[in-house]
Amino acid sequence: MIIGLQLEEMAYEQDIRELLMAFYPGAVFWYQKKGLTGRFAWGRAGQEMPVEEPGPEMIVAGRFLKEKREYQLTVRRLEGEDTKIDRTQGCLENLSPVLEKGREEAVENAPFAIVPEDHKETKNRIKRRLYFLLTLDTGRQLPWGALTGIRPVKIPEGKLVEGWEDERISAYMEEHYLTGEKKRRLSLEIAKEEQRLLKLLDYPKGYSLYVGIPFCPTTCLYCSFTSYPIQKWKNRLDEYLDRLEQELAAVREQTGGKAPQTVYVGGGTPTSLPENQLERLMGMISGVFAFPQGREFTVEAGRPDSITRDKLSILKAHGVSRISINPQSMNQKTLDLIGRRHTVKQVEQVFWMAREIGFDNINMDIILGLPGEGREEVVCTLEKIRGLKPDSLTVHCLALKRAARLNLERERYQGYPTASGSLMDELAELAAEEAGRLGMKPYYLYRQKNMAGNLENVGYASGDKACLYNILMMEEKQTIIACGAGTTTKRLFPEENRVERVENVKDVALYMEKIDEMIERKRKLFNTMRRGEIYGNRRGSKV
Ligand code: SF4
Repeated sequence: MIIGLQLEEMAYEQDIRELLMAFYPGAVFWYQKKGLTGRFAWGRAGQEMPVEEPGPEMIVAGRFLKEKREYQLTVRRLEGEDTKIDRTQGCLENLSPVLEKGREEAVENAPFAIVPEDHKETKNRIKRRLYFLLTLDTGRQLPWGALTGIRPVKIPEGKLVEGWEDERISAYMEEHYLTGEKKRRLSLEIAKEEQRLLKLLDYPKGYSLYVGIPFCPTTCLYCSFTSYPIQKWKNRLDEYLDRLEQELAAVREQTGGKAPQTVYVGGGTPTSLPENQLERLMGMISGVFAFPQGREFTVEAGRPDSITRDKLSILKAHGVSRISINPQSMNQKTLDLIGRRHTVKQVEQVFWMAREIGFDNINMDIILGLPGEGREEVVCTLEKIRGLKPDSLTVHCLALKRAARLNLERERYQGYPTASGSLMDELAELAAEEAGRLGMKPYYLYRQKNMAGNLENVGYASGDKACLYNILMMEEKQTIIACGAGTTTKRLFPEENRVERVENVKDVALYMEKIDEMIERKRKLFNTMRRGEIYGNRRGSKV
């Protein structure tokens, strides 16, 4: 679908575009060039379009009226020379009064009031009206309503802090964001669980450390992370670790040697490193910071084809408390298709090996919506996972990123459809039920762009096996200092409700070459800290 955006001001363009993408996955956007009219006026990403290309199939136009206290939003389908608003599919049943009313108003399509001095409120009003217009066009609702952000749990969590009752929070989410009942309940449950878990940690006084190892045995079909096949870098791994050591030493200097409250080593797949280099990495981390016993220390051992008994023993010896062994699917056909060069049997073998070595907190990640997978395949995956009884389960919904091979080579995978809509809903329900059977509760949640079914990723954990780092990072509750190529350090300014970020370059060679620059960026970000102090109240600018 090609959608033309005719927006008088671009202030709300991103929000409008994201909601359109949620209704029309894979949509391409064209923008009208100022001062021009007709077909010549449309351009992709600001470029003038060639005359022979077909024009947009839909036009979404927005403009401010009456000295900007009203907004007019229209959605038009274009069919040849005609234009029409397609309302034929728009019959939805059992709508709540909020949705009924909003849709009635949208049909009339009169301008609506906005609050120009309040960007957030105006944004929400525009998104709500657009949502109603799009339900009229598609006859569909979205599980999260007009919410497109990646941290929906922040909303109920914030209201709980203000002392709101559950019912009031739920009504607020419905009225303001048109969020469906199931997602309101889920996000409220998670917000409460997060609050309970974070009570275990005096997190405002601490920080967490993330270390990125951007190498994997091979690149998965859907991968959009900073990850490079390790074979290509095998001769420069020590050089990478040298630079990482330099960066970690600078962090120690900056924090006055204060140990992080949680540590997460991810990537990539850190266990892709050969044994001697994994030993070196673990020694570097535990040597730089003196961890007290029992500190949360997670290492992604994601790819079973990267794990050996010796590597697991190295992790255990260095105090790693939690590992993640990620099958993604327990169907061999799917594993082969998505380029994970391991078998289902290997997943089970390394899982039991890790148990033998003494790991009592093992997470497993699965992905719903993988190519060629429907109900039967997901049931099979969940049954096999039930047999293993991991301590936590992270259920992802496939998020198709532009740079992933699955997107770049999509014609090749046309024979392997990916689930969407109601099937994704059903698969997510099955996974939630299975997590419940395993005695787990949902404890963190985040969303991404282009997620199958427009759903979410949910982390489930049993008892005290939740990963606090995941909550601290996702909900932006704590400063995260990140080292390694492609990582992002986030410094929190809680009193100003503000986060500042600095990024390390993704390119491994460039990271190694520019390590002094990466260190300097962090130094600037933390430049007003007293030694050992992680939070600050500086009114800083973006670095
Ligand atoms: S294991 Fe993860 S990081 Fe590595 S290639 Fe696969 S998706 Fe990417």
